[in-house]
Amino acid sequence: MSTTDGGGSDGAVGEGGRPWYADGLRFECTQCGNCCSGGPGAVWFTPDEAEAMARAVGLPPERFLEQYTRRIGARRSLKELVRDGKHDCVFLDRDSRPGKAVCQIYKARPTQCRTWPWWPEVVESQATWEDTRRRTPCPGMGTGPVHPLVEITIGLSGGRDR
Ligand code: SF4
Ligand code: SF4
Repeated sequence: MSTTDGGGSDGAVGEGGRPWYADGLRFECTQCGNCCSGGPGAVWFTPDEAEAMARAVGLPPERFLEQYTRRIGARRSLKELVRDGKHDCVFLDRDSRPGKAVCQIYKARPTQCRTWPWWPEVVESQATWEDTRRRTPCPGMGTGPVHPLVEITIGLSGGRDR
């Protein structure tokens, strides 16, 4: 599962003050599920996001935390389920749609998930973007419609438009 400490950066600024992705980046999710799986990782969330996820699965917050999350150091992450050697997020559904892997709590998914792939460490440079695309692997990066600079910047700021 991919991991991040969240947004909070404006990303890499190149010469002349323009980020290397100033003209936007191509991205279109294919619902392969790779970014919700892979090696061991963490999906962080805020207390508000925990409440929203608890509502989405119809549990009181305490029961939600007990059933779907685990402690990592001082924080809590969504649990992982190891399937075929891959660490799937507990909410990754590989069964409902043939050939697809979808999020069971898509509308309530945490910011970390909403903002992928507009993470500081991913768009730091063209090299980190290419490396993440290859290592995840994320077949959606570099294909599909161009996402403009403003959208990438909002993602980098944690999904907030200011
Ligand atoms: S790895 Fe990329 S294409 Fe696959 S589900 Fe994640 S965002 Fe979509
Ligand atoms: S909450 Fe949903 S989008 Fe986020 S890692 Fe889990 S399955 Fe993927």
